[in-house]
Amino acid sequence: MDLILRNGTVVTHAEEFIADIGIEGGRIKQIGQELGASAKEIDVGGKYVFPGGVDAHTHVDFELMGKRTIDDFHSSTVQAACGGVTTVIDYVFPAPGETLMQAVESWNAKAKDKTVIDYGLHPTLFKPDDQMLQEMGDLVAEGHTSFKIFMTELGEFDQFAPQYVEAMNMAGKLGALTNIHCEDQCCISYITKQLEAAGKSNVKHFPDSRPRISEGLAAHRACALARIADAPVYLVHLSCEESMDELNDARAKGQTVYGETRPIYLHLDRERFNSKTDPERYVGWPPLREADQMEVLWQALDSAVLQTVATDHVGWSMEQKLEESAVDTLQPGMSNLETVMPMLYSEGIGKGRLTRKRFVEVISTNPAKIFGLYPQKGTIAIGSDADMVVFDPNKEVTISHENMHSNQDWELHEGFQVTGWPEMTLSRGEIIVENGKVLAQPGRGKMLRRRKFGQL
Ligand SMILES: [Zn+2]
Repeated sequence: MDLILRNGTVVTHAEEFIADIGIEGGRIKQIGQELGASAKEIDVGGKYVFPGGVDAHTHVDFELMGKRTIDDFHSSTVQAACGGVTTVIDYVFPAPGETLMQAVESWNAKAKDKTVIDYGLHPTLFKPDDQMLQEMGDLVAEGHTSFKIFMTELGEFDQFAPQYVEAMNMAGKLGALTNIHCEDQCCISYITKQLEAAGKSNVKHFPDSRPRISEGLAAHRACALARIADAPVYLVHLSCEESMDELNDARAKGQTVYGETRPIYLHLDRERFNSKTDPERYVGWPPLREADQMEVLWQALDSAVLQTVATDHVGWSMEQKLEESAVDTLQPGMSNLETVMPMLYSEGIGKGRLTRKRFVEVISTNPAKIFGLYPQKGTIAIGSDADMVVFDPNKEVTISHENMHSNQDWELHEGFQVTGWPEMTLSRGEIIVENGKVLAQPGRGKMLRRRKFGQL
C-alpha cells in the first residue's frame, strides 16, 4: 500500500468508527483495524477523517457584469484544498457566439494547467434554441450531466420561458438535472424602480430590492414548470422559508426537487448592510435575509428539506466590489471555498445544529450523489477515490484574509472564530495540503465525467 492513515475516527454519511485506511493507486484499498505495514504511515488518532467536500456551485474564473474574477483555477482550488474541499463543480458560461461544447472546451483550457483538485462542469443555458437542445445530448454523453438556468434578467428568463421549459424537459429525458437560480425579475425590476424613485437605491437597500417573496415566487414557478416539463430540478442557493415551503409543496406532489443553501445565509444576516465599512462586500444574489431565517435554514438542513451546502464561490477585489453603487449594478458574490467546511463544522456541529454524519452528507455525499459522482467521490469506502480531509476538531482559528489563499484583498468572515480546522487534505491519495502548507502541483486536478442523474 502507498499510504496508511492510522487510528482516525472515520465519519461517513452512514457511520462513524475508528479505523486504519489503506490507500493504493489513488484509491481506498482497505479499511480496518491494524492494517499491515506500508511505505508511508501517518497516525491521525484523535482526528476525524471526513470524505473531502464536494462543492457543487462555484464560479472560479469568469466574467460577470463586465468584470473578470480575481481568482482563477489555481487560487480557487488551492483555497478549496486548504479548506478540505476536494471536488468543485464549476458553472460554464458560454461567451457570445460560443456553442455549449466550445464553452466547455474554453473552461477546460482555463482549468487544466492550474487546478489542484478534480472538477466537474455544469454548462449554463442562455436563451436555449433548437441547436442548444441538440447539443445537450452531446454534453450528457461527455459526462456533463447538469445544466443551469437563471430565472433573472441574466438569463432573460421571462422573454424565453417556453424555451427554458423545453430545455428542462430535454434535460429530464437525457437523464440530466436542471439547476435553477430562483429570483423573480418582475419583482426585482418593479421594486428597484420604486426604490430609485424614493432615493433608496444605495447598498443599504440592496436586500429590499430582491426580497424573499421574489425568491419564493420564482421557486414556486420553477417547481411548477418542472412539473409541467416532467423533469427533476435542483434549486441553487436558497435563502429563506418561502423557498423551503415550495420544496415541501413540490415534494408533497411527488416531484423530485433538491435544495441547496450557501454559507452566507447560514452565518450572516441583513444587518450587515448597515455596517460602516464597505457593506458592498456582503452583496450576493439573493441577498442576506433577516436574522430569523438563519435558523430556518439550519433546521431545513438538519431535517433534510435542504440537501446540500455549496459556496457560489466567486472572488472579487474590494475595488471591483466598490465600483458600482446602485442596488441593480452592485457586484454579487465572494470567495468562500476555504471557509465553507470549517464554518459549517463549527457553527453546525459545534452549536448542536447538525450531527457529524449529516455534516458529511450535506457537504460531500449528497452533492456527489445528486451530480453523478458517487461513490467515486463523497464517501470513504473501498474503491472510492482517496479524497479525504483529516480534521482537527479542537483547533481554534480566527478567520482573516491574511491566512486565506484567495487573491481577494479582503475576507468576508474577517475575525470570525471557529473551532475545528482541516489538518491535511488528500486528493486521490496524494497529500495536497498538510498543516496549511500547499503541496499540490498545479494541473494535477482532473476533469470529471459524471454519470447521469440518480435519485438520492
Ligand atoms: Zn452562482
